[in-house]
Amino acid sequence: MTATVYLVGAGPGAPDLITLRAARLLEAADIVFYDALVHADTVALAKNAEKVAVGKRYGKHSAAQLFINKRLVDAARKYKTVVRLKGGDPMLFGRAQEEIDALAEAGIACEVVPGITAALAASAELGISLTRRGLSRSVAFATPRVGREEQPSDWAASLINADTGVLYMAAHEAREIAAQLIARGKSAGTPVMVVENASLQSRRHLTTLGAMAHEGLPALEGPAVLMLGEVYRAALEAATALPQSPRKANNAAK
Ligand code: SAH
Repeated sequence: MTATVYLVGAGPGAPDLITLRAARLLEAADIVFYDALVHADTVALAKNAEKVAVGKRYGKHSAAQLFINKRLVDAARKYKTVVRLKGGDPMLFGRAQEEIDALAEAGIACEVVPGITAALAASAELGISLTRRGLSRSVAFATPRVGREEQPSDWAASLINADTGVLYMAAHEAREIAAQLIARGKSAGTPVMVVENASLQSRRHLTTLGAMAHEGLPALEGPAVLMLGEVYRAALEAATALPQSPRKANNAAK
C-alpha cells in the first residue's frame, strides 16, 4: 500500500486564502513538505504531521528538485497521507509537473488541489480587473526565469501580444525586462503595477516601462509580481497626481 501524494496550493500568503479541501488535507496529513513562501500558520494547520521545509527562495536547481521528487516517493511508501504544500497554485510556475511525473513513474497516486495564484490575489487587493471591459481581453502569465538546463524562452512575445501581462519571478531583473520589452516594441508609456507580498503586508509601486528601464525598482523584500497593461493606467495617473493632493487637503482643512 502506498499513500496518495497531494500537491496542494497554499495560496498567495494569507493563511485564510486556502481552500477547504487544502485545509482538510493538511489536518489529515502525516507528513508535509512545504515551500519557503508558505506562511507558518498554514503549515501549522498540519497539526499531526511531520513538517519538512524544502525549496529555496531563489535558484531552485534540478538537483534539489530531484531530491524533493525522491523524498515524495519515499514518503508515499511510508506514510498514509502525504502533502506537498506549494505557494499559490501548484500548476503555475510551481514545478508541479516534475513531481507529478516522478510520482507517476513510481506508480504512486497523486492529486492536485488548486490554490489562489499571486496574480489573482494581487488583482483582488488592487480592485483592478485583469480583463477590464474595453481595455483588456487577454492575460499572459509569464516568467523570464529559465532553469539551468532549459532552453531560453521567448517570454517577451507573450507580454507583447497580451493586453495585460503578469510577470512572476521577475522583480530583481526589472530593468532588463523593461528594456527588452521596449526594444521588442511595447510602448515605454505602458503602466506597470508592482505588487509585493500580495494578501499579506503588501506594498505596491506604480511606474511605466520606460521609467523602469531607467531606474529599475525600489528594493523589495517580499515576493512580487510585475503587472503591466492599460488596465493600470487610471491608477498610474491617480498616483502621479498625488504630490499635489496633500497641499489641497491642507487648504481645504483651513
Ligand atoms: N505557484 C506560485 C508561483 C511560484 S513562483 C503562484 O501560483 O503564485 C514564485 C513567484 O510568485 C515570486 O517570485 C513572485 O513573482 C510570485 N509571488 C508569490 N507569492 C506572491 C505574493 N504574495 N505577492 C506577490 N507575488 C508573489
